[in-house]
Amino acid sequence: MPIDATLPYDDSNLFARILRGEIPAKRVYEDEFALAFHDIAPQAATHILVIPKGSYVSWDDFSAHAPEAEIAGFVRAVGHVARDQGLVAPGYRLLANIGADAGQEVPHLHVHLFGGHALGPMLAR
Ligand code: 5GP
Repeated sequence: MPIDATLPYDDSNLFARILRGEIPAKRVYEDEFALAFHDIAPQAATHILVIPKGSYVSWDDFSAHAPEAEIAGFVRAVGHVARDQGLVAPGYRLLANIGADAGQEVPHLHVHLFGGHALGPMLAR
């Protein structure tokens, strides 16, 4: 069920629980600012989620409220994961869903990183 991205952060959400180690995930990268792990239901050969360690509901919350160091650290982590996965030369796609119309289901900011083959049109019509 899509979330309302204007609601306050709720630290019982799934990705907060993965961050705390309460739920397992296939982790591929972690640093001071971010954690990356494989999506449980991949929609491409490579489908990785990158989340900030800070408590932000969505890209909207993060871009409005995160300190500069957290924004820089998160953006660099996303780039690092893509390079580390060998996705830069073949190409890849980043996607962040924000709120109901985009179908955001987990109320902790996450960037989807897709790659591993030609990804087709940007949006299904
Ligand atoms: P959203 O629709 O919020 O942008 O994306 C949520 C993503 O989280 C979906 O792609 C979904 O497959 C993934 N997901 C849901 N539950 C789990 C889980 O328990 N573990 C992992 N690794 N991914 C999950």
